[in-house]
Amino acid sequence: MDKILIIEDEESILLALEDNLKLEGYAVSSAEDGELGLVLAKEQNFDLILLDIMLPKMDGFEVCKQIRQANILTPILMLTAKGQEIDKVLGLEIGADDYVTKPYSPRELLARIKALLRRSKSIPAEIETYKFGDIEVDFLKYEAQKKGKRIYLTALEFDLLRYLIKHNGQVIPRDRILDNVWGKEVYVQQRTVDKHIADLRKKIEDDPSNPRHIQVVRGVGYKFAG
Ligand code: CA
Repeated sequence: MDKILIIEDEESILLALEDNLKLEGYAVSSAEDGELGLVLAKEQNFDLILLDIMLPKMDGFEVCKQIRQANILTPILMLTAKGQEIDKVLGLEIGADDYVTKPYSPRELLARIKALLRRSKSIPAEIETYKFGDIEVDFLKYEAQKKGKRIYLTALEFDLLRYLIKHNGQVIPRDRILDNVWGKEVYVQQRTVDKHIADLRKKIEDDPSNPRHIQVVRGVGYKFAG
């Protein structure tokens, strides 16, 4: 049973959401303010989080940001009111996956929830082999080929590439790449990421100055397109 956390302070909306989701067979937990929502999101393992923006104690943007800073990759669906800053919601810096605008139809909301759950489950926990463009990578053997010819990646480049592939299509901030590939305890400057991405591009891209697979998103981070 998928577990959904609802962070919403308006009681009527919260109750309706809980009822709807329980009817659909989800296990539901809820928090009526941002701080409690963040605590629950960190303590328990949810499959999806529904997050309102205007919340007591801590707003939804901040909750979302802190969830991502804690390296929790649970899909987050923002509940926004009309006129709220949709750009900011989709804003890559906060790391939400999708949003619906209130008042939403329960059917639309359920469809979005299902789509997000499906998407998050289609990403395997660990990738063993992966093909994209003319590249083939075997992460178990630490071997890679481009157009059928062996190319040589360092162990770090394999880890970096695997992390990018795992988040195919998502924009990943540099600090999250650092925390996940280098580890949190290691002090590395953010431009170290840029250097290693540049090295990796030289090996895998046809034209490293105009990369197809590892794209930079200015001011934010990188995005893998497989
Ligand atoms: Ca609210």
